[in-house]
Amino acid sequence: MKPDQLLKPAPAGLYCPAGDFYIDPVRPVARALITHGHSDHARAGHGAVLATRETLDIMEIRYGEDFCGSSQAAAFGERIDLNGVTVSFHPAGHVLGSAQIAVEKDGLRIVASGDYKRGADPTCAAYEPVPCDVFITEATFGLPVFHHPEPKAEMGKLLTSLKQFPERSHLVGAYSLGKSQRVIRLLRDCGYDLPIYIHGSLARLCDYYVSRGIDLGDLRPATLEKGDPTDFRGAVIVGPPSAFADRWARRFNEPLIAFASGWMMVRQRAKQGGVELPLVISDHCDWPELTETIRELAPSEVWVTHGREEALVRWCELAGVPARPLHLVGYEDEGD
Ligand SMILES: [Zn+2]
Repeated sequence: MKPDQLLKPAPAGLYCPAGDFYIDPVRPVARALITHGHSDHARAGHGAVLATRETLDIMEIRYGEDFCGSSQAAAFGERIDLNGVTVSFHPAGHVLGSAQIAVEKDGLRIVASGDYKRGADPTCAAYEPVPCDVFITEATFGLPVFHHPEPKAEMGKLLTSLKQFPERSHLVGAYSLGKSQRVIRLLRDCGYDLPIYIHGSLARLCDYYVSRGIDLGDLRPATLEKGDPTDFRGAVIVGPPSAFADRWARRFNEPLIAFASGWMMVRQRAKQGGVELPLVISDHCDWPELTETIRELAPSEVWVTHGREEALVRWCELAGVPARPLHLVGYEDEGD
C-alpha cells in the first residue's frame, strides 16, 4: 500500500479511506480522530469522535456535552481497530491531552503529530517519538530564525519586572487552553507563591487542569466590580490576549501588558500588539526541534501540514528525506 492510499488530504482534512475517518477535520464529518483541544483542530458537530480522555473533556467544557454524536476515549498506546486500520494515540507534549495519532495497515505506519513540542512542560505528558514510515509534521515555526529560549528565563523577566514596578498590575496575555496553565505553573516553579488572578474565561479550564493533578497554586478571579483597582497593585493577572485589548484591562492599576507566545520572537508583532513585556514561550517546536525530530525518527517520507511548509520541505530534501507540503487549510495555531 502506498502512503497516500492510507491517508490523504481532502477538503475536510486528512482522510483515511480504508478506515473511513478523518484526523482533525475542519468541517463536520461522520467519524473524527482529534489530536488535541485547540479550536482549530477540535471542532464541534462530528458524528463519532475518538480522542484522549482529556481532549474529550476539554471539548465538552468548550462546546457543551452535545459536542458530538458519540465519543470514545483512547488511552495512550492502546491499539484500536477501525475497519481493518489500526490507530493509536501517543503523547505530543503540546497541551494537556494532546496526542500524535499513528495509523497502520499492512505494515505501513503513518504518524500524524498534530501540534507538538519537545521542550519540558509539567502541564502535559512529554512528546514520545514514534517510529514510522511517514511522519506528518506541522511547521508553525518552520524557519531557521526561530529559536525559542528557555521558558524559565522568560519567566525571570516577568519576576524582574514585578520587582522593578511594584505598583503596576502585570497583565499576562496567554491563550486559554494550555498556555495560560503553563505560564501559571512556570511562575510557581520559579518560586512565585502569591495569589495569581485569572480572567473569568480561564476558570473552567484551570479547574480542569487542577482536577487532572496539575497544581496551579492559589488562583483567584480577577474581578474589579467589588473592589478598587489598587487591589491589584503589583499583582499578576493572566487572561486571554483578546481581553487586554478592551476596557477590562485599562481598569487595572497602571497596567503593564505582557504576552506569552512563540510569536513574541518577532519584535514587530509585540510592538503592533502594544505589548510592553514580550515573553517568548511556545507550545510548538522551534526550528532546531523540528529538524532534530525528523533526524531522530528518520522516516522514509515527511509530509508538512501547516505553517512555513516550504522551508522545512527544502531542509528535508537537502537532508535526503523526501518531503512534500500538504497545503491543509483551516489551522490557525490558536495555542501560541
Ligand atoms: Zn494546538
